[in-house]
Amino acid sequence: MNTLSKALPSTPLNVSSGSSLDLSQETLGPRQNHLLASLPYSELSLWEHELELVDLKLGQILCEPGIKHTHVIFPTTAIVSLLYMTQEGTSSEIAVVGNDGVVGVSVFMGGNETPNQAMVQSAGQGYRLRTQAAKNAVNRDGPLLHMLLRYTQAMITQISQTAVCNRHHSIDQQLCRRLLVGLDRLPADDLVMTQELLASLLGVRRESVTTAALKLQEAGVIHYCRGHITVLNRKSLEHRCCECYAMVKKEQNRLMPAVHQYLPSSYRSATAMEL
Ligand SMILES: [Zn+2]
Repeated sequence: MNTLSKALPSTPLNVSSGSSLDLSQETLGPRQNHLLASLPYSELSLWEHELELVDLKLGQILCEPGIKHTHVIFPTTAIVSLLYMTQEGTSSEIAVVGNDGVVGVSVFMGGNETPNQAMVQSAGQGYRLRTQAAKNAVNRDGPLLHMLLRYTQAMITQISQTAVCNRHHSIDQQLCRRLLVGLDRLPADDLVMTQELLASLLGVRRESVTTAALKLQEAGVIHYCRGHITVLNRKSLEHRCCECYAMVKKEQNRLMPAVHQYLPSSYRSATAMEL
């Protein structure tokens, strides 16, 4: 068991079953994922029937380094970390994929595999698509391809800015950035995340995260209890963060089309609430 696996919360977040989803989630289905929601209805309807709803469990490995993907995954309520595992078994998070993205960009790019691991760090659900079906959809040279190219550019920005952040910004700032990144991909202000997990994702000592988290708690910005972090003051969290969070978010907003742009009118109000 590597360091990150040991750092996962002992009490996993409840995994929603299909029957427990609220009405807007049932109505939106795959369109809870913003990439899928941004596609024209005429495009998604061509292969929507091939999307398979899956539960993504805390700590589940979705792909290992050097192993070809069998599926690409569009998370809806789950959050996935893309990690690099060192030979010593420590890890560092290089990017985060939630309802804003897709796991398996290398399939679309033609490389089929990466040196990184994809691990579920917040349980939930997503939709998976067989790699061949994904390639067929991309090879139509339609909106999906163009959307994925823009998403890949946004992903490159996220990865490169993470490298900058890890090198130049304090652990206090990195913690704020990471909490905001998680928060943006969840419907509530509550993150299921131990300090051990945060330390593994940031690639720093647990004691350093504890000190940084204590500062936030004493300032009334967060409340931490048994692996649950509740953000009480998001504005303050943004104020204490380095520029990395805002820069990546601004670039993502610039590159990705408005989700509601192509949605049928019956979907728009529900999506606005989700966002
Ligand atoms: Zn930073």
